Amino acid sequence: MSKDVFVFIEQRDSELQKVGIELLGEARKLADSLNQDVVAMLLGYNIKSKAEMLIHHGANKVIVVDDEILNEYVTEPYAKAVCAIIKKYDPEIVLYGASSIGRDLAPRLASRIHTGLTADCTALEIDEESKNLLMTRPAFGGNLMATILCENHRPQMATVRPGVMQALKNNPDLKGEIVEEKIPFDKSDMNVVIKEVVKVESKKKDITEADVLVSGGRGIGAPDAFNMLGELADLLGAEVSASRATVDAGWIEKDKQVGQTGKTVRPEVYFALGISGAIQHIAGMEESELIIAINKNEEAGIFGVSDLGIVGDVHAIVPKLIELIKKEKK
Ligand code: FAD
Repeated sequence: MSKDVFVFIEQRDSELQKVGIELLGEARKLADSLNQDVVAMLLGYNIKSKAEMLIHHGANKVIVVDDEILNEYVTEPYAKAVCAIIKKYDPEIVLYGASSIGRDLAPRLASRIHTGLTADCTALEIDEESKNLLMTRPAFGGNLMATILCENHRPQMATVRPGVMQALKNNPDLKGEIVEEKIPFDKSDMNVVIKEVVKVESKKKDITEADVLVSGGRGIGAPDAFNMLGELADLLGAEVSASRATVDAGWIEKDKQVGQTGKTVRPEVYFALGISGAIQHIAGMEESELIIAINKNEEAGIFGVSDLGIVGDVHAIVPKLIELIKKEKK
């Protein structure tokens, strides 16, 4: 019988990626509703030492496949290893990050294992009666939320957007089991040759990874005003993000968009500058720890979710804030 909630743990250069840790937190909730265990699948090369950390974040068991062929992510060897684990252990649920790796790997596995996959989920829940997994994702460009079930096949599989689920706090007292699996790889499993890995050095972080976000909306008035937001962000060690209105207007790149059809963020501090607070925007940032909003309309919806609301003109307040921070730093 299918059992347990499995999570594919993503790593790059042996560094565990945040999304896998977030998924362990969500898997813990689902597994508790089913009275089952959370199992992390950790694949890579020289990666075993990271297994303990997954237990400290909620896994009851970690299945490790440590092999040189898994040093860099390549579809075929990774698909072969995860497929072998799923066939051996018969999980009830398998979760992947909706990252470039998860989006490449999960559909391939769904097809090999002959099960379904719901991509890009933003909410997961166990149905109390049937115990099926309810997988919710935006559909039709975010105009409605669709809840999808996989009733007749196992495992039930979903990719989940980074930043949506909450990781559990690291608890070194948690105990679990680490199991090593050997996969019989051969040369034919490596169907591409990696000649060189070129890393693009970027000073900018993805907005889902930032601790502080300075987010601009249509109220900033013009694309150039993002320079002012950038200056504030640099002083605060923050990243710049935006509302959809500014992205649609071509003022800033799409990967900076926060919200239902953008990214879900959870920074320690979120500055909402000239953002009205439409429901689709709030859906992507309301879990931020501290929300500071500046808006000249005291009725703006953003004040409903703000911890600190300032009624005023961003062009009057932000330059003063920049000046003050510069003075403080001297
Ligand atoms: P506006 O709504 O135009 O608000 C501008 C605000 O700035 C106003 O509150 C105004 O009072 C204030 N302002 C003006 N001048 C100043 C000034 N000088 N100083 C201070 N304040 C000032 N939106 C997203 O953000 N993310 C999404 O992912 C997203 N997904 C969507 C999906 C769907 C299916 C739909 C239908 C819509 C979606 N939207 C999304 C759009 C959303 O409904 C809003 O239209 C959008 O968020 C508005 O952006 P805004 O707040 O920047 O602009």
